[in-house]
Amino acid sequence: MQTKHSSNRRQALEQGFDTKLIHAGELVPRVHGAVTLPVFQSATFELEDDQPVRYIRQGNTPNHTVLGNKLAALEGAEACHVTGSGMAAISTSLLTILSTGDHLLAQWGLYGGTHELLSRSFPKLGIAVEWIDANCPETWAAKLRPTTKLIYVESMSSPLFRVGDLLAVAAFARANGLVSIIDNTFASPLNFRPAESCFDLSIHSGTKYLNGHDDIAAGAVIGRREWVTKIAHRMSHFGGALDPHAAFLLHRGLKTLGVRVRYQNESALKIAEFLESQSEIERVNYPGLQSHPDHARARDLFLGFGGTLSFEVVGGAASAERLMRRLTLPVAAPSLGGVDSLVMRPAAVSHAGLTGAERAALGIRDGLVRLAVGLETTEDLILDLAQALADG
Ligand SMILES: *Cc1c(COP(=O)(O)O)cnc(C)c1O
Repeated sequence: MQTKHSSNRRQALEQGFDTKLIHAGELVPRVHGAVTLPVFQSATFELEDDQPVRYIRQGNTPNHTVLGNKLAALEGAEACHVTGSGMAAISTSLLTILSTGDHLLAQWGLYGGTHELLSRSFPKLGIAVEWIDANCPETWAAKLRPTTKLIYVESMSSPLFRVGDLLAVAAFARANGLVSIIDNTFASPLNFRPAESCFDLSIHSGTKYLNGHDDIAAGAVIGRREWVTKIAHRMSHFGGALDPHAAFLLHRGLKTLGVRVRYQNESALKIAEFLESQSEIERVNYPGLQSHPDHARARDLFLGFGGTLSFEVVGGAASAERLMRRLTLPVAAPSLGGVDSLVMRPAAVSHAGLTGAERAALGIRDGLVRLAVGLETTEDLILDLAQALADG
């Protein structure tokens, strides 16, 4: 009885999510009755009494505001501002909250672009970063300084898909007066909604699951209105606005997020289980597997475990390269979250900007391969992996 009741409740929540994908934030009434919000390809808008200036660089044209309202509704948050890329959302958010002399705590093992921004650019601006192990909350307090303003983590850190103690991060921020930010790109709003766990801000690379078709770059910052308003204002100075046509495509892609990511959750789990059973594979990193060190936490926090996994091929970099050459379906390319499966070697691509010592400290070995599962038939992807792993 109990189980039936809770699974019914979960189903109701999911239906709500898919309905929001289609209907939340849309203009009422529809523009000339158009079922789909048209693209407003206009840089500037006629001034109206009681209306703020509307201009593409302000990110407040109808295509921007509808997207922002939809994304805020999806994560159950107060507000959202969309940006021209994930990195625009990250850099603008951090540089709105932090100034020279400030200090932040950040998870060790962040997305390569973010890691380089914090470790290479921020010191030049007089902003200091200290890395934390997101799985060890008891070690964080010792790293606090009087100048610490912010704590920054990711819902799943690629390419090993470690899941930090996210509830502890939000609680630690509250207890110590820090702003908490989470990059929620890998989970997507279907699998995890940070505002429900009391994070101040959630950031996405809209280039990935939100858009889902590998044809635009976009970003979003979602969360407390007070911060989103300040970040939007700062973005109009930094210039990282989203183009309206890209906003139109993101809006179109976003509507299918539920069906796409639910399929990718299932497909990635089946592929991870297949790979784990193969003798040519040393190790599979996917939080949906019982063997993953953060499996229990991921199961508690997330609806699904995401569409991206990584694995180590016996024989190191040469065997990994051989496997990638022999695959016929996944394309060798960076990125994730689209309809096409993509495969790459983190040591050569996403984490090539780090030193060998930094990669070793992160546990990224040369033979590690990351697979971002697309929407192909799961069985076909498994057969393709099997033939690529076979002798001869
Ligand atoms: C891709 C990515 C980014 C950067 O996003 P862009 O849209 O490429 O600027 C940031 N964080 C994560 C986790 C990503 O995967």
